[in-house]
Amino acid sequence: MNESAIDKGRIDPNSPPREDSVWATAASSGLSWQAVKHMIMDLATNRNRTGDFLGARADFIQDRVRALGLVFAAIVPLWIVLDFFIIPDRVVFVRLAVLRILCASLYLALAFMGTRPHNLQRAVFKLTTLMLLPCIFYIASRFALNGDAPTSALMVYSFFPFVIVAQLAVFPLTLIEAIVLAVPAFATLISVEFQFGYLLSMAFVGDLLLLFLLTGLSMWASMSELHMLLRLYRQATRDPLSGLFNRRALMERIEEEVVRAKRHKRTLSILFLDLDRFKRINDKFGHLTGDEVLKAFARLMEEQLRKTDVVGRYGGEEFLVVLPETDMVSAEEVAERIRTACATRPVSDPENAVVHFTTSVGVAQLREGETTDALLTRADDSLYRAKESGRDCVVLAA
Ligand code: GH3
Ligand code: MG
Ligand code: MG
Repeated sequence: MNESAIDKGRIDPNSPPREDSVWATAASSGLSWQAVKHMIMDLATNRNRTGDFLGARADFIQDRVRALGLVFAAIVPLWIVLDFFIIPDRVVFVRLAVLRILCASLYLALAFMGTRPHNLQRAVFKLTTLMLLPCIFYIASRFALNGDAPTSALMVYSFFPFVIVAQLAVFPLTLIEAIVLAVPAFATLISVEFQFGYLLSMAFVGDLLLLFLLTGLSMWASMSELHMLLRLYRQATRDPLSGLFNRRALMERIEEEVVRAKRHKRTLSILFLDLDRFKRINDKFGHLTGDEVLKAFARLMEEQLRKTDVVGRYGGEEFLVVLPETDMVSAEEVAERIRTACATRPVSDPENAVVHFTTSVGVAQLREGETTDALLTRADDSLYRAKESGRDCVVLAA
């Protein structure tokens, strides 16, 4: 909850949306040092990310792990042909060929491992496996090569740690994730060179520096990708004025929540809200002040809702709230809280005139076997009745 807004009694319409807040601040403050700092902090962890963004990123990562898994599953065994010409020792060749087939099978398994939509844990698990597989393959292949320093044609085997960190560039990752995922590549390089006694060679120092450089570049690419994804995702799913879900994203989320509630046999309620006599506010104070009221209303709703609730702009001055695991009684309490907050916390216009606004709310609880459309219609009917009964009130669906 935004305490300062409550202390003042008035809502600051220009405070950022409750989630992705650091991002919103960074995006609005141009290219200052402050903005860059915000951006780096914003891209360091998942802390300011909304659940829906994390879900979308999880799907993105799972898709790419699958694609890379298939590519490596094809390339790794193909290399056996090359090994045939560059490895004269047939015993070593066979050992490596077996390793390659084993590794390719694991890549295939990773590619075809069941996806769980929106599941970030599953995505990170797959990505970690994708990073660890070549590390294990590299260690095993160096042993299979009897620990010889890879020279000339065999040089290709020493490129492995570099390929491993380069993989990072394909994924949109936070700074912390990228660092953690790069650790196995460093550990592999260091432990292998230690095992075979090359740790003190100049070649090793050169390799290590190169690995640092490549990791830095890959991390940069990863974070830029995350930044871009976040930006596009926001543009595609948010209403630019209120920062809430736009209608398309809202309808998708409602559908998802309804399906989930039905599957787990849980309660779910929705609120249909419409600002009262909003046209008059526009007429009296101007459209810009009207916009400020809409923003203040959005922040006010966010204050009154849980993180798991879904809130979006349905259109104009109409908003929808989905309250998962909430029955009609609790939903009415939430609606009443929002209604009271509106009525008691006006907005100031640029000339410091006080702009009072109120809202009417229709509430409906999902019935067994009910479709989303039917639920929305019942909430809309209740809202209509709230308007009929004089506005600034909450009406429950029959
Ligand atoms: P009621 O209590 O019956 O809902 O009356 P109302 O005036 O709120 O409803 P009506 O549908 O007549 O008017 C809605 C107004 O909302 C008209 C439209 O100009 C205004 N509006 C819609 N979107 C925006 C917006 O993004 N910014 C501003 N400032 N006004 C908007
Ligand atoms: Mg209205
Ligand atoms: Mg309306």
